[in-house]
Amino acid sequence: MLLLLFHREREREMGRAFVYVILGGGVAAGYAALEFSRRGISPGDLCVISEEPVVPYERPALSKGFLLPESPARLPSFHTCVGANDERLTPKWYQEHELQNKLTENMAAAMRGASHMLDKRCALKDKKGHGMNEMYWTKNNFDSEASMDILSRQKRSRSLENLPLLFPTSIRENMPWNDDTFRGIELVLGTRVKCADVRRKTLLTATGETISYNILIIATGARALKLEEFGVKGSEADNVCYLRDLADANRLVSVMQSNVGGNAVVIGGGYIGMECAASLVINKINVTMVFPEAHCMARLFTPKIAEYYEEYYKSKGVNFIKGTVLSSFENNAEGKVTAVILRDGTRITTDMVVVGIGIRANTSLFEGQLNMEKGGIKVNGRLQTSNNSVYAVGDVAAFPVKLFGETRRLEHVDSARQSAKYAVAAIMAPDKTADFNYLPFFYSRVFSLSWQFYGDNVGEVAHYGDFSGGTFGAYWVNKGQIVGAFLEGGNKEEYDAIAKTTRYKPMVQDMAELERLGLDFALQV
Ligand code: FAD
Ligand code: NDP
Repeated sequence: MLLLLFHREREREMGRAFVYVILGGGVAAGYAALEFSRRGISPGDLCVISEEPVVPYERPALSKGFLLPESPARLPSFHTCVGANDERLTPKWYQEHELQNKLTENMAAAMRGASHMLDKRCALKDKKGHGMNEMYWTKNNFDSEASMDILSRQKRSRSLENLPLLFPTSIRENMPWNDDTFRGIELVLGTRVKCADVRRKTLLTATGETISYNILIIATGARALKLEEFGVKGSEADNVCYLRDLADANRLVSVMQSNVGGNAVVIGGGYIGMECAASLVINKINVTMVFPEAHCMARLFTPKIAEYYEEYYKSKGVNFIKGTVLSSFENNAEGKVTAVILRDGTRITTDMVVVGIGIRANTSLFEGQLNMEKGGIKVNGRLQTSNNSVYAVGDVAAFPVKLFGETRRLEHVDSARQSAKYAVAAIMAPDKTADFNYLPFFYSRVFSLSWQFYGDNVGEVAHYGDFSGGTFGAYWVNKGQIVGAFLEGGNKEEYDAIAKTTRYKPMVQDMAELERLGLDFALQV
């Protein structure tokens, strides 16, 4: 064991090298890891480095199930990739899953390789010399079942790294195993990368370790914009909450719990603002939403769609103050915010504040090294950056959206999942992987409402359906073709139909007829 620790320490100083490194431990990282595993990597080939202390999880849960007052979602239940109804990758999965497939082969090969030196039956015992079944094999007779039995016991009981210790030194030293044989996917958690050198293919962590790669996938996502970036001071107050990661979500839950029955001001009328306002209401907190635009979700919703959601929120007690922004906070002696002052002079007393005023992609490590566009790292149709050993996926990547014929940076979970899976396919099977052809997909769930949007929201809009509480939606028609579709309250078949319609981009001659047909138009495509 001492030898192992010594080896690890030396490794840290010298730096570790991997075939593949995923920088970032969010949604895209989790989906990329699963894809690597499915396509087959060798133990020790892949490393995931994340500033967060936990393995990748489905970030959308943080503004939904995580904030519920009863039976809230908690890790490990929402580790990736449950959001896509796929395997849930727990910390154990990263350690062991990859080995499960590979170790059998490796062990068989290793033992076959060592069998020449076995001239008598050999009994193997665990380190304490008891409890473990004996495993026998003879010169030319490797008993794989028995070895798998030992392997599975070992996996249950302690680290796989100790597995070689089960074998007598004479055998161990002659087996073609190395430390990598006993590694899964290397997780470097709670560790920020502070420097990247794409020419040298190295990353320097805040703990001083240099990690090198053959291929790098950048999945650094984004950070929440702070009020200070808009000239407002006071974000550090105990009762001012942002929401980007698990630590933020835990803090928000604790602030909410101590203010049940009180008041909250939500700054921002985008995704965070809308989803958090709904959660605050569910937690019995009175909400005032403040945002600069004329209506909520201004970047996506039409005024008519926004009106529906605002009326619904009002019916739940939410108060809207639109067309203005926060100018300052008032604090009490303990430094807690007690009131917000708006630019139009309005003063709102409050017990807590939630801020959701947008994000910035985490590109800074690569500025000046890789080409940038649209606030992100520019990639080609294979998710490859201007350096061909480096790929970028998720919120940080600006990629060509074929359907629109232009480069976009999307800030949504489906795009993170799909781009991550695609990049791994492009890396591991370049000849079999055509250019990424992604249909943008956004969704949200608040209270008992649920909507989906596909495509692009440009051009003329045809609204349809029942805006008084039933299923309704809209099509966006640009240059005579449907380019975007929105639906509230649909079922799977209906959502699939609007997705398909947006992908086909059918021609539309008559907007009035499209409005009349409504959802039936999509169902007939
Ligand atoms: P992230 O998931 O943000 O992961 C980035 C990771 O990189 C983090 O782990 C971070 O710590 C790490 N990192 C960054 N820099 C470094 C560094 N220098 N060193 C080490 N690690 C680093 N989208 C939807 O479509 N639907 C939703 O309902 C939805 N809900 C959301 C709810 C919330 C609260 C939030 C914050 C986002 C939501 N999104 C939603 C957006 C979606 O979660 C993101 O698009 C998605 O997480 C992007 O994945 P990513 O892997 O690119 O980035
Ligand atoms: P959004 O970009 O969705 O919304 C930001 C909102 O804040 C906009 O209304 C914006 O107005 C407003 N705003 C900007 N500056 C100020 C200011 N100084 N004062 C008050 N309001 C301001 O970002 P969010 O923060 O809501 O969401 C962060 C990220 O999380 C996004 O990437 C989003 O995609 C993701 N997310 C997605 C969800 C989903 O898809 N369901 C759910 C939760 C988060 P303007 O438009 O004028 O700038």
